[in-house]
Amino acid sequence: MATPKLFHFFLVILSLLVSAAAKKTSLEPHQVEEDTTISRFRQYLRFNTAHPNPNYAAPVSFLTSVALSIGLQVKTFEFVPGKPVLLLTWKGSNPSLPSVLFNSHLDSVPAEEDKWSHPPFSAFHSPEDGKIYARGAQDDKCIGIQYLEAIRNLKASGFKPLRTVHVSYVPDEEIGGFDGSAEFVKSKEFEALNLGLVLDEGQASPTDEFRVFYADRSPWHLIIRAIGAPGHGSRLYDNTAMENLMQSVEIITKFRETQFDVAKAGHAALSEVVSVNAVYLKSGIPSPTGFVMNMQPSEAEAGFDVRLPPTVDPNLMREKISKEWAPASRNMTYEIIEKGPLRDYKGRPLMTATDDSNPWWSVFEQAIIAAGGKLKKPEILASTTDTRFMRQMGIPAFGFSPMTNTPILLHDHDEFLKDTVFLRGIKVYEFVISSLSSFEEASQQKL
Ligand SMILES: [Zn+2]
Repeated sequence: MATPKLFHFFLVILSLLVSAAAKKTSLEPHQVEEDTTISRFRQYLRFNTAHPNPNYAAPVSFLTSVALSIGLQVKTFEFVPGKPVLLLTWKGSNPSLPSVLFNSHLDSVPAEEDKWSHPPFSAFHSPEDGKIYARGAQDDKCIGIQYLEAIRNLKASGFKPLRTVHVSYVPDEEIGGFDGSAEFVKSKEFEALNLGLVLDEGQASPTDEFRVFYADRSPWHLIIRAIGAPGHGSRLYDNTAMENLMQSVEIITKFRETQFDVAKAGHAALSEVVSVNAVYLKSGIPSPTGFVMNMQPSEAEAGFDVRLPPTVDPNLMREKISKEWAPASRNMTYEIIEKGPLRDYKGRPLMTATDDSNPWWSVFEQAIIAAGGKLKKPEILASTTDTRFMRQMGIPAFGFSPMTNTPILLHDHDEFLKDTVFLRGIKVYEFVISSLSSFEEASQQKL
């Protein structure tokens, strides 16, 4: 047995070791070694899945081999040729209960390589600060790998799900999802999954609170056109095409201001109001040096990106456009191109409840708390994801990507995710997947 003196000696040695370790920490702030988990993430990031020519075959075969190595069932569908949907399944002990789906998309937006500090498909892992730079690091290849790593860890721990867990990888989300998720949700293979809940991508959070999204805004592409009598550029007369168009632009600009003011005053989040942004103006008669300057054109056109939160009545919006923004009385016409559904199969707004009316909500919320996380007030996503197609089928869906203390860099130059944030996300999904797949309430009914 150690004497007090000897014990003291041990304490001194111990304190020396601790201070040496602390010194190492201060010298090397970045502590996460490259492990197989991170190298799998980087491997997935290196596939160039950017539009307009995403490589789908290589990442699908990579994910398939990872899934097989952890004992998941693998299926691949092609609802549109060349656009694979990969479906992985971990069967629950009661497969008659509605299952849970974890979705992500395979594709990414392009990257302007010369504006990046590191090539966007090299997945550079900075030894200084642990940042992993790649197009798709946040949007959304992180979750695609985190799902699998969480399942790997749960399996290794002996956990067995009650409900079946599915993981899907879909193409073309970044160009609207029409050949991907939109086709997938209409298929008999999708119906056979008997889904109770879908989790899909969310967005990074610059604070220490996780963000969760219960709805997306629906995009409309609006084109308004004006016609009017042409005439000499020196003449003043009523109802020229340009005058008609500019009056509309003024009215739309005022509407935009009132919506923006509501958000600026703090009465609503930016994603809770209607956004209208002019994206092009087209008119004039071309000349070899530019435009004919002494002639008033007979046609003029403008394009707008309009985003509607699910709380807005699309019929009232259509009425506003036809009566105020492009009225026939001012020789105007318009075209609305709806980029996806606005209501679900029962005609309800595409929103997933985040209260007691949705039994999945508290299970999800509790899982985040159990993982040591804090959850921000649920939000509407300002943009659009594949969840709208799932919600259209009446299936509750949350947008969630576990990235805290991370700047929002999706679609930006130098998109990155820190290795520590990525690894913590795996732990969070272990709680989320195990909780949701153990949830006993037999909510057999579609909500
Ligand atoms: Zn995305």
